[in-house]
This record gives sequence, C-alpha cells and structure tokens, in this order.
Amino acid sequence: MRHNVFDSMPSNIVSDKANVFADFLQTAGLYDSMKISEDNIQDLILLLDGKVRISAYCKECKEKRVFSMKPYIHFEDDDTGCYSQKLSEEVFRFQKSSILENTLSPNESVKKQNTAWKWKNWQIEEVSRVLVFQFVCSMNERHHLDYIVLTTDNSMTKIGQYPSVADMTFPELDAYKHVISKEDRKELGTAIGLFASGVGAGSYVYLRRILERLIYQAKTTAGDAVNDEEFEQARMAERIKMLQGYLPEMLTKNTTIYGILSKGIHELSEDECRKYFPVVKECIYQILGMWECERRKQADEIALNKALSTISSSIK
Ligand SMILES: [Zn+2]
Repeated sequence: MRHNVFDSMPSNIVSDKANVFADFLQTAGLYDSMKISEDNIQDLILLLDGKVRISAYCKECKEKRVFSMKPYIHFEDDDTGCYSQKLSEEVFRFQKSSILENTLSPNESVKKQNTAWKWKNWQIEEVSRVLVFQFVCSMNERHHLDYIVLTTDNSMTKIGQYPSVADMTFPELDAYKHVISKEDRKELGTAIGLFASGVGAGSYVYLRRILERLIYQAKTTAGDAVNDEEFEQARMAERIKMLQGYLPEMLTKNTTIYGILSKGIHELSEDECRKYFPVVKECIYQILGMWECERRKQADEIALNKALSTISSSIK
C-alpha cells in the first residue's frame, strides 16, 4: 500500500505529541534511532517546515515553555550564485515525484525497482546528513533548545542535544521533593543522566533499585495488611500486586508492567533496558505523584481544621 504525502504543504501548526519525530527528539536518549518511512515522512516534512511546536522546560525561564523552529533552510551554490532552499519542500517534491513515477510506470519490473523507498534524493543527501533542529523559547528568542541528528539509510539517530535530558528532567523531580528521599533523588538523577548518554542496563539498574525501595516504603505503610513472609518471598511484580491500595491502581492492575519487572536485570539486553527505561521511570513518577497528592490533601485538611477551630473559638 502506498501512503500518500499531503497534496500541498499544510499551514496548520501541530504540537510535539502529535509528531513522531518531535516526540523522538524530546524523549530519545543519545544514539537511539528510529526509522524514517512512508508512514511517518509527513511528520518529518512538517518538522522540517517549522510547523511543530514543542512544549518543554526552559532552562533559562525555569518554567515550561512553548518552543518553535524556523523552517529548515540550506544553501546551494552554482555558477549563477547562491540559493537558499527549504528542505521540507525538497523532501515534499521528491516524495510526490516518487509516488507519481510509481503510479505511472506501466512496467511491473520498473515498479519493483522503484519500490526501494527513500526519504530523500541525492541532491540533498549531503546537506541533510547531519540535521540541527534549533528551537527557540516563545518568551525569549535567546533561549534555545537544540537537537542534532544523523540521518542515514532511512533512519534518524539522535547524536546531540542541549540543554541535556538531565538538565531538563531534574526540575521535574522538584515536584516530588517532599516525598522522595535524598538517596532516591540522587540515584534517579544518575539514572536519567546515564539513560540520556545512551547507557541502557546501567541506568535501568538504578531505576529498579529505586522502585524496589519505593515498594518497600509502601509495604511499611501497609503494615500487617500484607503478609510479611509472603511479601519477602515474592518477586517484584507480585509484590506490586499485593500492595493494591497502597500503590497507584495503574501499577497494581497493569499486566504489561509485571512482564517488564519480572525479568531479572541479567536477563535483559541493553536494548530492552533502554526500551523499558521510560516506562519504569513513569511508574516511579506515578508512585511519587500519588504520595505527593496524599501529602497535599493531608496538609490541606490540617490547615482547614486549624482555620475552623480558630473560627469556632471566636464564635463562642
Ligand atoms: Zn525561555
């Protein structure tokens, strides 16, 4: 099946979550790669055309901001002078002409030859080998968010980013500062830093350790409601199941998570560790989020009680 590119360049702006390449730029660790294919080439054209807005933490503003990018321009020299070209339009034109060629070709064997799909033609091969996506903060044009990728053999590999994933993730952790121990916070930082540098198993080991400690913390809260002996003998995935009501429901009821967690560290490949990392990190965030929510609710109740008792004593 042929996946058509759009008829003309769309003018609407899309958000980062709706664009697979923008999502990749933001979430992938260094040296992670993804395929560029007929299914997602539209997304790449939109990204190159400056049509994608990214919502991310701005290191300078110290807040979440919207970032945007100008259309990707490259320059060409020939005898008559120097021209600037929009890369998005060149990819778009090439995709349209390949589709046309394939539909018009009466000869099946020619069709087959042409089916080796490519995302770009030789004219832009060199200029697009390394792409630098330069996003700018909506509040200040001097605040940048830069991503560098390598594009070879119909794939995109992330080879650089500034500010680093760690720089941008640490502020996220501030939201949980009241419920996370110093040790966990430090190791979570290490794990994120390692993952961002392309380390799979190493980063995953830290996450598992943190998750194990959080599960023990939940067990302490649960007390006798969960049998000590059974808990000690169970594997991590089963322990989570036992702690229903003390951990987020999303965790205690999700069987995919058990699949990921029941595998021992030694059974996992480097690739699997990198693939599971964001999921396990999210589990940790969910637990911390639940505890933070409870902590706030308690604090609000205490404050309200205090206010009420002040009023009741003044009414008397
Ligand atoms: Zn900013």
